[in-house]
Amino acid sequence: CTRVRFAPSPTGFLHLGGLRTALYNYLFAKQRGGTFILRLEDTDRTRLVPGAADAIEDMLEWAGMAPDESSRRGGDYGPYVQSERLELYTQAASSLLHTGHTYYCFCSNQRLELLKKEAQRNGHVPRYDNRCRHMHPEQIREKLERGVPHVIRFKLDTGAEPFQDLIFGWSRHEVAAVEGDPIILKADGFPTYHLANVVDDHHMRISHVLRGSEWLVSTSKHLQLFRALNWTPPVYAHLPLLLNRDGSKLSKRQQDIYIQSFREQGFFPETLLDIITHAGSGFSSNRIGRQLDELISEFNISKITTHSALLDLDQLADFNRIHLQRRIEDEGKRAMLVEKLRQFVLHTHESQIDDCAVLEAQYIQRVLQLRKGHICSLNELLGPVYSYLWIMPQVSRQQLEEVTSEAANIITAVIQLVGGQRSLTSTEMLNSELKLKSSKLKKTKYSIFMRVLRLALSAQQQGPSVAEMMISLGEQEVCARLQNALQ
Ligand code: GLU
Repeated sequence: CTRVRFAPSPTGFLHLGGLRTALYNYLFAKQRGGTFILRLEDTDRTRLVPGAADAIEDMLEWAGMAPDESSRRGGDYGPYVQSERLELYTQAASSLLHTGHTYYCFCSNQRLELLKKEAQRNGHVPRYDNRCRHMHPEQIREKLERGVPHVIRFKLDTGAEPFQDLIFGWSRHEVAAVEGDPIILKADGFPTYHLANVVDDHHMRISHVLRGSEWLVSTSKHLQLFRALNWTPPVYAHLPLLLNRDGSKLSKRQQDIYIQSFREQGFFPETLLDIITHAGSGFSSNRIGRQLDELISEFNISKITTHSALLDLDQLADFNRIHLQRRIEDEGKRAMLVEKLRQFVLHTHESQIDDCAVLEAQYIQRVLQLRKGHICSLNELLGPVYSYLWIMPQVSRQQLEEVTSEAANIITAVIQLVGGQRSLTSTEMLNSELKLKSSKLKKTKYSIFMRVLRLALSAQQQGPSVAEMMISLGEQEVCARLQNALQ
């Protein structure tokens, strides 16, 4: 059965690159009726960021991709945090020592530094020279007895075997020649990434590893570890890099790539999924506006190419507009939006609201129905252009008369029009009635007529069409505002 894992290190918060790896794992698992696991790789104790582990799972849940197994959810193969699985790594390391696949290394940091410096001086990549591999057993015993600090290194074979990657095809990396024997157990007893990763993939019965292509070069090493432990390796699929549109690397210093920050700006999870799938491959079509279940059925791993995926964050607002419109049209989701907007409005304008009618669900719903397709997020409705929706504007008759001396006549004519209507519903109808009214006021141009009206209703010179403003405010409020402006 298919078991995949998303294995982030809690050394930072979840960003778009991580969400993408999680998404492809999730889609792959769900498409095959498999299991999606969240495993936290926290063996690098010096780089842990407090709160990151929890926040990563929160963000997956927010995105609709809650893991089937994780430390929060439980599962039969836990614990799902590496620092709680140390026993398994020590066991594996000692069995490797027993079978002669590893050795104690007593090289001091000072010596390793020297090796590094020398390599750099000669323009080489630093490589451990495997000196301790050939140490005499007597010497080893003596050093262990003296308590000399040591690590355990894995004996890499030269001539790595090729392996078939689901995305990159046949691959092979001469890890031995390039890096020398890697450390698998550190001096503090913690495993390194390579050992912990392999041990966990085995014990958690991972069938497929889908991870970033930055790990492609490590895979030859992992396969050697699997072989030495006499375990069957999973199938590997390395995902091409995710880059900025200009080809530069996504930087964790760019605040705007963090999922939490997108969420705070009012972006929906589906919008982020669109941005990710739009950037990369994995689908026959790059259609946007898909929900997770559509992505599951349309995902096709054989469509993932090796080209880097390029992110276009400029499309965020537009994608979000589409998803916001969909949610407004969906009755179940609409109620949630209404409540959310109500909270936002209360939070932003509370002290200035004097008419509680603007907080009623029916009113907010009407505003949303009229603005869908135009706004990209609910937050937009809290900006100055839309403050007329929530707060009575302060406009004096004098301000209106500065636009035209006909202002009072315009306002009176519209009060008559609105007062005579049973309800304001259609913008088209209202528009033609306003046009007719304005044509009767011979001295006033239509554009001036509308400008006065807009000003009286909103104290703004821009915003949605005047007819839309009137419909969203409702006839009573329109009349009240117009009367007010005549004072
Ligand atoms: N902990 C690694 C990371 O942070 C996981 C790599 C893998 O999936 O094997 O990306």
